[in-house]
Amino acid sequence: MENAENRTRALRRKLRLWYQKNHRELPWRQTKDAYKIWVSEVMLQQTTVQAVIPYYKNWVRLFPDVKTLSCAPLQKILKAWQGLGYYQRAKNLHKSAQIMADKFAGQIPQDYNKLIRLPGFGTYITAAVLSVAFDKPYPVIDANVRRVLMRLTRMRREASPKNDKTLLEFLKPYFPQKKTGLFNQAMMELGALVCKVKNPLCLICPLPEFCEAFKAGKQEIIPTPKKRTYQKIEVVVGIIQENGKYLVQKRPSKGLLADLWEFPGGKRKAEETLEEALRREIREELAADIATEKLLTQVRHSYTQFRVTLSAYECRLKNKPRYKKVQHKWVTLKALRHLPFPSGSAKIVHFLEERDKSEGKNK
Ligand code: SF4
Repeated sequence: MENAENRTRALRRKLRLWYQKNHRELPWRQTKDAYKIWVSEVMLQQTTVQAVIPYYKNWVRLFPDVKTLSCAPLQKILKAWQGLGYYQRAKNLHKSAQIMADKFAGQIPQDYNKLIRLPGFGTYITAAVLSVAFDKPYPVIDANVRRVLMRLTRMRREASPKNDKTLLEFLKPYFPQKKTGLFNQAMMELGALVCKVKNPLCLICPLPEFCEAFKAGKQEIIPTPKKRTYQKIEVVVGIIQENGKYLVQKRPSKGLLADLWEFPGGKRKAEETLEEALRREIREELAADIATEKLLTQVRHSYTQFRVTLSAYECRLKNKPRYKKVQHKWVTLKALRHLPFPSGSAKIVHFLEERDKSEGKNK
């Protein structure tokens, strides 16, 4: 019994000392403001720390607290999120902020059962916010912690939330009742900086004596690598310009990339050329015929499950469009910059800006 207690104390102490000496100074670590911690945790899901930093800084400048966010227009929120992907996360931040403003006086509830019911608060975000902001006793398991725990326990499977119940059981005796935010952050940081996916740095790890994978020399093959398959998709869009304005349309408010703007167009079918696909899509969306003039640019963008090649053709409308199916508008290049686009389309907007600059236009 005493041995088990000593072991628990030793793991906590080694982890804490390592974290205090080695953790990164990140903007969201310089605050105990639960709102900012919440925003950072949502952004960090599926996104790297380096990519998040500028978004986080911009976000807390635009929306410094729950109340400001709750009142902000959705389009401004989506624009601030543009490029981070998984736009539902931004919408959930907005919806939850509105509920907090309405029902919790603009504060983040400290009660687990109330918090987890809000949009976007799964078990991870709820535990992260409550422990980091309020030191409540909830352990977190993100991808980094999952990998560390799988190696500590030598669990030879693919990394998956399905393993978390077993891992939480293992973690239970080690998890402290005080300074839980520090413990959780230390575990996450250890996974990010030392117990990396490839080439874990076991020689500088504070926990090798607790690590069954390391003792067995199996740390490189735990977790079992995932077999990834990506679907390749070809999308073609029309850049239609009249009187110095571009035609853009809004995506439906449900489904992938909901409520973002895009250029008219769509997916190429197997039997079509890109230009044929574009003519069909524009006919379907705008009930209009077009002449494709030239291929302007091709950009590539990767999403979790698929890889998209986006081809943009300069086009001319042959007849007046009817906008039955889609919400559309004609906007100047300057105004295009302020609309929220999916990352692939944003690259096309960037191309148009650069083209204008090289042609000496100043719109
Ligand atoms: S000893 Fe190696 S594999 Fe084990 S937790 Fe530390 S870094 Fe990860």
